[in-house]
Amino acid sequence: MNCTALPPFDVAIIGAGPVGLLLASLLGAKGLRVLVLERRTELPAHSQAIGITPPSLKILAKLGLDDEFIRRGVLVRDCHLHGESGHLGCVSFRDIPDEHRFILSLPQTHTVAVLQEKLRDHSTITLRAGVEVTEVRQGDSQCAISFNDGTPRVAQARYVVACDGARSRVREWLKLKSTGRNYGVHFIMGDFVDRTSLKHEAHLYFTAQGTIESFPLPGGLRRWIAQTRERIDCPPAGLLGQLVKKRAGFELPPEDQLNQSSFSPRRLNCERYHDRRVILCGDAAHVMSPIGGQGMNTGFADAEFLANVLDTILLDQSRAEPLLAAYDRYRGKAARTAIHRAGLGMWFGTWTGKPLSVIRDFVIRHLLCRGPIRHHMGPYYAMLTIPYNTIERVPVDALKSQTA
Ligand SMILES: Cc1cc2nc3c(=O)[nH]c(=O)nc-3n(C[C@H](O)[C@H](O)[C@H](O)COP(=O)(O)OP(=O)(O)OC[C@H]3O[C@@H](n4cnc5c(N)ncnc54)[C@H](O)[C@@H]3O)c2cc1C
Repeated sequence: MNCTALPPFDVAIIGAGPVGLLLASLLGAKGLRVLVLERRTELPAHSQAIGITPPSLKILAKLGLDDEFIRRGVLVRDCHLHGESGHLGCVSFRDIPDEHRFILSLPQTHTVAVLQEKLRDHSTITLRAGVEVTEVRQGDSQCAISFNDGTPRVAQARYVVACDGARSRVREWLKLKSTGRNYGVHFIMGDFVDRTSLKHEAHLYFTAQGTIESFPLPGGLRRWIAQTRERIDCPPAGLLGQLVKKRAGFELPPEDQLNQSSFSPRRLNCERYHDRRVILCGDAAHVMSPIGGQGMNTGFADAEFLANVLDTILLDQSRAEPLLAAYDRYRGKAARTAIHRAGLGMWFGTWTGKPLSVIRDFVIRHLLCRGPIRHHMGPYYAMLTIPYNTIERVPVDALKSQTA
């Protein structure tokens, strides 16, 4: 094989999605030499994540990026809940115990663009786009990463982090044990010019025929998501508008629709997130239902934790095993909590039929929105109550003292 050797890096990151890009900048800020290998050459066509939670803004602030994100996004302070019996209540973020009392709505394509631009700040980061990683081999002191940019090449790095997403090939190569399943629930979604008067509010409609979710986006747009009975890979033109009209009462003219896609949530979590010098991060390590908007945010917290671990163990190899075990343990616990919450919320939200809708309306109106737990709803959906959601909340002193 005609392989051209590159100089060895401290860390090679496979995948420049939001998590890989954030990790690269966090490592670059610590002066580490980082290689990022990404298959794409353009920004992702489909925007997935839109909700950025307060703990993630805290992490972005460490790179001086929080203001830039807030400037570009929409601040969602209230989420209104509707049922068969009308308006049920509101989950408000206005009083949550955090300096950011909102969920930021910003399409994932924008998040990726800002994080990619940020790499330019660090001369120690090399981004190679348009390359496919085909193999990772581990040695005693470093790894060999084979990739192809038209010519087969090999790079060397002391640690490899797989941020290659939900269908991670690195996860397959490592054969790490995982558990997971499909939920058997399906959705279509699309972004529209927003002609409603909903402004910056999020609205969820829980109906007997299925759920409708509606979120504001920057640029005068709004995202609509509708539950469907089965998976519809290519939704016919106008279908999303029809479902929204029937269940939530809004007219969405087809000419206002910018894009559409479908998704069928599943869950997956690995028992361990590392094998010697290769570490999984973000969706490569755990996948959760997008309902509740936690996947990317969980990946951001992985990246923050891992940047601190790598910074420490690159200086002192003897700390590698305990600190990587701590990464597995604490990030595993955070991911399990987020996966469980996402599954629970989706299960409850996707009940169909009149009798279950009556029960759901009662629970939302009287327990969640008016009962004693109503004050916990904002912090819960803002991910403030996810364990170890930022490095400051991890009881491993060596990590916290390294934080920039
Ligand atoms: C409909 C939907 C809505 C969502 N909404 C939210 C939300 O509101 N909030 C939230 O927090 N999360 C949300 N999520 C989840 C979020 O999109 C993911 O958690 C996030 O994309 C994970 O980021 P990542 O960087 O780990 O992986 P990815 O974004 O999947 O990035 C992986 C990257 O690796 C590259 N790659 C893969 N294999 C290779 C290879 N062999 N060689 C080179 N490059 C490779 C890919 O090209 C890609 O760029 C949503 C998901 C969906 C589907």
